[in-house]
Amino acid sequence: MSKNIAVIGLGIMGLPMAKNLVGAGFAVSGYNRSPEKAKALAAAGGTAAGSIAEAVAEADVIITMVPDSPDVEAVLTGDDGILANARAGTTWIDASTIRPDTAIELARQAREAGLKPLDAPVSGGEQGAIDGVLSIMVGGEQADFDAMAEVFDAVGKTIVRVGPSGSGQTVKAANQLIVAVNIQALAEAVAFLEAYGVDTTAALQVLGGGLAGSKVLDQKGQKMLDRSFEPGFRLQLHHKDMGIVTSAAREAGVATPLAASVAQLVAATVQQGNGHLDHSGLFTLVEQLSSGSGDSGSTRNVA
Ligand code: NAP
Repeated sequence: MSKNIAVIGLGIMGLPMAKNLVGAGFAVSGYNRSPEKAKALAAAGGTAAGSIAEAVAEADVIITMVPDSPDVEAVLTGDDGILANARAGTTWIDASTIRPDTAIELARQAREAGLKPLDAPVSGGEQGAIDGVLSIMVGGEQADFDAMAEVFDAVGKTIVRVGPSGSGQTVKAANQLIVAVNIQALAEAVAFLEAYGVDTTAALQVLGGGLAGSKVLDQKGQKMLDRSFEPGFRLQLHHKDMGIVTSAAREAGVATPLAASVAQLVAATVQQGNGHLDHSGLFTLVEQLSSGSGDSGSTRNVA
């Protein structure tokens, strides 16, 4: 338990993960592009680093938790980046959600520089990160994965190695497809129930106990009823993830018609200026598509 851990990216997910690592007894040094977030880590018993070089200098393990593929690439390969500053033998865990092909290429570069790379994207949202119960899908060498058991245990609950480098990101892309389609289905169901004046709280309660029940329904249903879309997981990030899954599926020759449709709906919601909302904010577009007088083609009120 004497590991020094550097965490790069202390946003909605990275900060609570770093705090849980502190809580598990690790020495945690954190760096974030906007420096005030690192102060929150220092207040929780970690150390605020002024640069990536400073954060990783003594690290046995480096965790990156930044938004997108170009961000991970910059943090890894930039002049002040991980490759230029980390000690050989250090394990690099990328917990960000990025393109599988980028993960494979960056893992290759990291190995060449003497690091042990693991792609380890997570699922479970902000609350899962705060509670330390994330689902973590890991790609990389078995031995490197095994050596990180204590680290993963401090931030997650379901931790599975799914294959070689890049596999974690492929599984995460599938995760994002399933979640987006579920949110869209829930949003349509809520709009439908409201249109019929049903007691939606009662409806979601009973739906949650049957086959329609899901974590999406449990965590996002009330947000839709309340029109409360504070992130959580920003739609802008889910837009990125739908791009990842639709392009990876196309390259593999896999037809994903639902993913393609929901990707368009996510894109439109973001384009309307709602990328900062939680992904349950997909509901705003469903609501908008159904708004208006509704008298030209509705069968409901026709005798
Ligand atoms: P976020 O709140 O935007 O956090 C990202 C953090 O990375 C920000 O604090 C940002 O700093 C920092 N950053 C960006 N570029 C950096 C750089 N070059 N050097 C240092 N720090 C940098 O995003 P998040 O919600 O935590 O998501 C992070 C990753 O986890 C994404 O890939 C996302 O898809 C994935 N994820 C998120 C959730 C979720 O529920 N939120 C769940 C599962 C997976 P600034 O303050 O300067 O912007």
